[in-house]
Amino acid sequence: MIHSPEQTLSPALSVLAVPAFADNYLWLIHDGTHAAVVDPGDAMVILDALKAHQLTLCAILLTHHHADHTGGVPELLQHFAVPVFGPRNEAITAITEPLAEGDVAYVRELGLQLTVIDVPGHTKGHIAYVRQRDERSGAPWLFSGDTLFAGGCGRLFEGTPGQMAESLGKLAALPDDTEVFCAHEYTLSNLRFASAVEPGNLALQERVAIDTEKRQQGLSTVPSTIALEKATNPFLRYKEPAILASLKVEGKLAADASPVEAFAALRMWKNNF
Ligand SMILES: [Zn+2]
Repeated sequence: MIHSPEQTLSPALSVLAVPAFADNYLWLIHDGTHAAVVDPGDAMVILDALKAHQLTLCAILLTHHHADHTGGVPELLQHFAVPVFGPRNEAITAITEPLAEGDVAYVRELGLQLTVIDVPGHTKGHIAYVRQRDERSGAPWLFSGDTLFAGGCGRLFEGTPGQMAESLGKLAALPDDTEVFCAHEYTLSNLRFASAVEPGNLALQERVAIDTEKRQQGLSTVPSTIALEKATNPFLRYKEPAILASLKVEGKLAADASPVEAFAALRMWKNNF
């Protein structure tokens, strides 16, 4: 495998969205020569994108075991002998670099370091990757998989509401300008729910207008930022009095409920919305 011996001279990194299936985003982190892919559910769209942009795959990064995030791995490995980073606590046979909270995934060809955060809830071993702020390439990046979505959060398939609330809390603690690269274009549907939950939120109304316009133009609403999510995403705002009031008016929450019970009620409401 070829790599640059002079990391300090390497070009800045950028992130390319590769749409797949109905609403997935697969992410290519690249420097114009090499690329690491996040959650390649489909190999064909990645192979096409690599070819179109003249990139060589140098690493695969996985957030969790679901097929729409991992299904393309075997075929990509037939074309490129690359390391596969992924959650230590999930049974994904292709993983060569098992990771958990506090570990750093290092992609040598890109000079890219990604800090790992455990974010159980959607699945029991789900991890997120953070590229810290760096002078060369600007704002931090978060690859949140199916944990934090633009305007929402993932369903609780394997974890508890308490786990998911704690996981989202860790992501909300990242710097405000962190760009959030989630794995699905669910934003408008999430924002419809958010608007029902918190109709008086002006930042949310503004976001609905902006993101609706983007979708009408065929543009992606992702990435968002941690600041925008904290201002508009009900699953980061479940302790807000206005949201608790909505839950109670709808008869979905007892008067003396705990914050985690409020989060659970909110997630349940979204499931049936
Ligand atoms: Zn998933």
